[in-house]
Amino acid sequence: MGSAPLIGITMGRDRNTGAATISPDYPFGVAESGGLPVLLAAPGIRVPEDRWLGIIDRLDGLLLSGGPDIDPAEFGEQPLCGLGAVSPERDRFELTLTREALCRRIPVLGICRGIQTLAVAAGGTLYQDINTQVAGVLKHRQEAPYWHVSHTVRLTAGSAVFAVHGREEVAVNSFHHQAVKGLPPGYEATAFSADGIIEAIECPSGGPVLGVQWHPERIWAHDPLHLAVFRWLVEAAGASREV
Ligand code: MN
Repeated sequence: MGSAPLIGITMGRDRNTGAATISPDYPFGVAESGGLPVLLAAPGIRVPEDRWLGIIDRLDGLLLSGGPDIDPAEFGEQPLCGLGAVSPERDRFELTLTREALCRRIPVLGICRGIQTLAVAAGGTLYQDINTQVAGVLKHRQEAPYWHVSHTVRLTAGSAVFAVHGREEVAVNSFHHQAVKGLPPGYEATAFSADGIIEAIECPSGGPVLGVQWHPERIWAHDPLHLAVFRWLVEAAGASREV
């Protein structure tokens, strides 16, 4: 046993001021699970990769946080009317960092935008706006408090997300209007809401990788069941470092 696994957490970027932003619920969730969180701010779009990509050598795990939409150009589509705000600096930073992490089999946990970042980095596609692209969808952008669990998800037996929660059905919160559409090669959808929207993905043949469409960081202080994905990341990061 060495020191606590170092978990890089990607931050948002204020569209107007450029300020780096993050909810403290992410680093506190990592710390609560025994990890050492380090916050990663997206650099400006013109800062060369070799100035920042080296951080990946120091990380034992990567947590992709929530945030705005991913530019559909990143998965070969033109922007539809339902697309929301995008952050080119953040897209470039997170997609490059994620591809590097996947190559090196560094454990990755994606939360909300993070499942979408993971999917696009690995070669998948997204619905830009489920409300206009998918018929009969549930309300996935709840107006209830952030910790309230507004819809259920069904977890696939035998999957990592099922093992993490130890049950087939989990009630989750929901703050998204994008979702995974086309899975990346080798990936499986392992949680679905009742309307068929993909709520978790993983890569059984690859490294330890998990994306969830809900926001466990906003629930764990109210229900410890939702700390389990943070513990999964910290444990996988610790295990991969010892190999
Ligand atoms: Mn949802």
